[in-house]
Amino acid sequence: MFTEAEGKSLLSAFGIDTPRGIEIAVGQMISDDIREPLVVKAISSTLVHKSDAGGVRVGVRRDEIDEVAARMGEQLAAAGHRLDGLLVEEMVPSGHEVIVGAVRAPGLGWTVMVGLGGVLVEVFEDVAFGLAPLANEQILDMLHELRGMKVLDGARGGEKADIPALVTLISRLAGPNGLLQSLPDDVIEIDLNPVIVSGTRAVAVDARFVVG
Ligand code: ADP
Ligand code: MG
Repeated sequence: MFTEAEGKSLLSAFGIDTPRGIEIAVGQMISDDIREPLVVKAISSTLVHKSDAGGVRVGVRRDEIDEVAARMGEQLAAAGHRLDGLLVEEMVPSGHEVIVGAVRAPGLGWTVMVGLGGVLVEVFEDVAFGLAPLANEQILDMLHELRGMKVLDGARGGEKADIPALVTLISRLAGPNGLLQSLPDDVIEIDLNPVIVSGTRAVAVDARFVVG
């Protein structure tokens, strides 16, 4: 398993936007170039879904980090997890939450999945699939397969998502020269859940690389 920060630096090496952040030990200060509001996330080798165990706090000020970490440590301990450190990152302005995932299918390469986050994916299973390497037109077709595409397009007065930025992000992951094509064989799954797509950006705020 890669840590979240390792996964994110790999993403940025391929031009995929991620929040600015730093891994610190509990009690350590963060540098001034990381701007509030912050998100504090638990680093723990046994933890997969961080927020389920109280391992994510959003909207944190710099002077609150130690207090947040103390509470997080207690909550995690109660759930049987150790708090090994913190990933402190900038909080990305809100937008549409999109899930982008990829699973290595033996003999086929990578199956890529895209869906809208939250209830749309959980309740309606509104997802679309494709096989990497994906051309931009194929990525757009996948997005148009989603019933929730109207929501991304700004239906009902919601913010219109930057679709070209989302297509670029998926292409840097799953396109002909994308990250998937260059991963070692033992990486079998990637989850970017969520990618926050606003009117001007598409940012992967969570990254999970599964090693088989
Ligand atoms: P989990 O392991 O629980 O999936 P995430 O890293 O996805 O943890 O964080 C949980 C939620 O917190 C995300 O779905 C997103 O809504 C929010 N979040 C996480 N990181 C950021 C960030 N940098 N900026 C804004 N929101 C964030
Ligand atoms: Mg997540």
